[in-house]
Amino acid sequence: MSKNSSRQAGRHFLQIPGPTPVPDRVLRAMDTPVIDHRGPEFAKLARRALDGIKTIFKTANPVIIYTATGTGAWEGALVNTLSAGDRVLMVETGQFASLWKKMAEKLGLKPEFIETDWRVGADPKLIEAKLREDKAKEIKAVCVLQNETSTGCWSDIAAVRKAIDAAGHPALLMVDTISSLASTDYRHDEWGVDVAIGGAQKGLMLPPGMSFNAISDKALAANKTSNLPKSFFAWDEMLAMNKVGFFPYTPGTQMLHGLVEGIDMLHEEGLDNVFARHDRLAEATRRAVKHWGLDIICRDPKAYSSTITAILMPDGHDGDAFRARALEHFNISYGASFGRFAGKMFRIGHLGDTNDGTIIGALAITEMTLGLAGVPHKKGGVQAAMDYMASVHGGGARQAAE
Ligand SMILES: *Cc1c(COP(=O)(O)O)cnc(C)c1O
Repeated sequence: MSKNSSRQAGRHFLQIPGPTPVPDRVLRAMDTPVIDHRGPEFAKLARRALDGIKTIFKTANPVIIYTATGTGAWEGALVNTLSAGDRVLMVETGQFASLWKKMAEKLGLKPEFIETDWRVGADPKLIEAKLREDKAKEIKAVCVLQNETSTGCWSDIAAVRKAIDAAGHPALLMVDTISSLASTDYRHDEWGVDVAIGGAQKGLMLPPGMSFNAISDKALAANKTSNLPKSFFAWDEMLAMNKVGFFPYTPGTQMLHGLVEGIDMLHEEGLDNVFARHDRLAEATRRAVKHWGLDIICRDPKAYSSTITAILMPDGHDGDAFRARALEHFNISYGASFGRFAGKMFRIGHLGDTNDGTIIGALAITEMTLGLAGVPHKKGGVQAAMDYMASVHGGGARQAAE
């Protein structure tokens, strides 16, 4: 920001991997009088939201809508299906996986980690091996993130399901889709996921404060015997009230207006087009980073995330100082660094209501800041990103990430 100025011109570049920029259409849909949450008008709104969200998870079963952030839906998934002392298998893909594991411990579960160096997705083979070792079938759930937001590593959920089946293991499959839902493909029923956790403020383009549990019949059956304490997050009362178009308590009415609008927008664009757009913006970002000569945290091209790219800083350069510098000069926010990469990286979010021009702007800001901060790099990364985007728009062959 220039000196002696209390105003920043233009829009802030919100390049964090959630919350994402809220489209004007969603803001306008939310800018409406509050209605009686026990009245007939509300029931219509609730039905549209409850039906609409099923099309995003691709499920025929009910989806729970919580007035809580994604962390609340993590808790909902665990407390509704599991019992005190249950073993759960989790994969340490990064910071968010670690936080979910901590929650499981606090709730009285016994989580076990498959450890990684935070630079890959979940390995279905290692999951299968762990399940095969569990002859007594004591592991009650396998918990993975479809997209690890702290590192930009994606996991193949269909392959994880196959691994569980190959081991002949009855564990539930729980998937955190918070930073991938409505940005990359997700198929709840087809992939046989038991509980999916979603959040509003990433691909769904809403402000923070709403989250979801998509559930399978098997998860509903597990709910009947689960003994972990549950109250606010209990599925049974929610499902009973949702059936008649209401909630057990006052839900975030304005958020429901926004959700309905966001879902309409996704379908107007077409989900497959939304996914292709995210793939394109992500690949363009990686082309720039590779041209600069910097390393991407994710070291497995098959696991590259389409919603966030984490960039390793060269030795002697602090990622958080870099972020502060870019914010000061160019009014941009990048994702912070975490855990074993604290200070060593910054993250570019390229998800939600964003497009080629915005990402090119963000990459140009990044290249300028690399220069200002004296970070060694080769100029021209933005050009590499532009060349790639133009080739895709021109009908050029889509090049695989590899
Ligand atoms: C953002 C995020 C969370 C946390 O969600 P909150 O809404 O901040 O509670 C959990 N998991 C993943 C993968 C996320 O990206």
